This record gives sequence, structure tokens and C-alpha cells, in this order.
Amino acid sequence: MSRSLVIAIDGPAGTGKSSVARGLAIAMGARYLDTGAMYRIVTLGVLRAGVDPADAAAVAAVAADVEPAVGHDPGEDRSYLAGEDVSTEIRGDAVTKAVSAVSAVPAVRSRLVALQRELASGADNVVVEGRDIGTVVLPAADLKIFLTASAEERARRRNAQNVAAGLPGDYEAVLADVRRRDHLDSTRAVSPLRAAEDAVVVDTSDMNQAEVVAYLTELVEQKAGVAR
Ligand code: C5P
Repeated sequence: MSRSLVIAIDGPAGTGKSSVARGLAIAMGARYLDTGAMYRIVTLGVLRAGVDPADAAAVAAVAADVEPAVGHDPGEDRSYLAGEDVSTEIRGDAVTKAVSAVSAVPAVRSRLVALQRELASGADNVVVEGRDIGTVVLPAADLKIFLTASAEERARRRNAQNVAAGLPGDYEAVLADVRRRDHLDSTRAVSPLRAAEDAVVVDTSDMNQAEVVAYLTELVEQKAGVAR
């Protein structure tokens, strides 16, 4: 038996990261942890409390009491706020607009990073997806992947996802949001979005999801061979 593997998948919005991370977890029979969903749940808690996402002290106070919970089955997207299923609401516009500001608050990050480390530990294979998994949350991960794609391609994919989820489509607005979030996520003081030095960088602009999953599965198999 090989030991269990921890796979970190990072990258900006719209690289197909979630679909690829889920696909890889299914292929490996691994658990899946969506850390972006955790930041989204906390953001929803902040909005519901009527707090301005730009007010860091107030955000930190609310976030200390929010209990975010996410499902571990890669075939299902389930998120809970204090036991309530908020899986659809956290993907909506209000949360998407506010999440970068909330996730830039150091107290929010330290709480969620501790929770993520706890959730990622265990004897089974796990795929953990986010922005700072390879650099901050799990620097000792067995394999670190950093997915990239052009801003236009990422906006096109995000927009198609929104339409598929029944939300109104608006490519220009999505592109503007992708650029805005890229900027906020890569320039924030705490855990800015960047590839770990030992990450495998994969540009998915001209690859479909199945091709990316197949490539990553190959990388995982090589790792498992080495770890055996
Ligand atoms: O992956 P998703 O787009 O759902 O993530 C939403 C937001 O949560 C990101 O734009 C980023 O601001 C934040 N995030 C983060 N660190 C992570 C995962 C997500 O700051 N590990």
C-alpha cells in the first residue's frame, strides 16, 4: 500500500480549477476540500450580519462566530452556514462581489487556514483546492498544481457556468470581475495568490477539462510510484 497523498491545487478564478480538482479527486478516490467555498460561507455570514465587508474589524468579529462547513464528496457541492444549506446562495453575485475583501482580513484567514489544515489531515487521499494551499495552508503537500489561463478564457468559462446555474449571463461584467478579483487576490498583504516554487504550473487556456484531469492523474500516479 502506498501512503496517502495530499494534492494542492491553486490558481485564479475561472481556470476550471473546481471542475478539475473534483475530477481528479473522483479519479483518485480522494476526498475533496473546496477552501473557496469556506471563504464564501464566511462572506455570506458577514453580509447577513449587515456588516460592511470593507470594515476589517467588524468582519473579523462576525467571522469569529461563523461555523463554515463543506461536504467532502467531490461529486457533490454542499456548503453549510450554521447547519443551513447555502450551496446556491454562496455562488451568487452578492457573495462573489464581497468575498475578496472578506478573505483579505488576516483574522479570517488564520481561522480558516487552521480549519483547512485540520480537515485535510487524515489517512486518506485528499485534493485541496484554493489560492494559497501550496504556499501557506499545506506547504508539505505531495503534489502542488497551479492552474492558469488567460483572463478572457477564464471569464468565458465563468460566464458559461453562471448561465448553466440559471444566473443571468453577462460576459463583460464577468471579465471585469475576474480582473478585479485577480488584482485584489494577487496584491493583498496576507497570502497573495502566487504559485509555490515547487508547483507544476499548468496553462489550461487550450485544454479541456478531461485533458487537464488526465494530465494531473498522470502526475499523481508518478508521485504515488515514488511514494510507494
Ligand atoms: O474559488 P472561489 O472563486 O470560490 O474563491 C472565492 C474567493 O475566496 C477568491 O476570490 C479569494 O478571494 C478567496 N479565497 C482565498 N483563499 C483560498 C480560497 C479562496 O482567499 N484558499
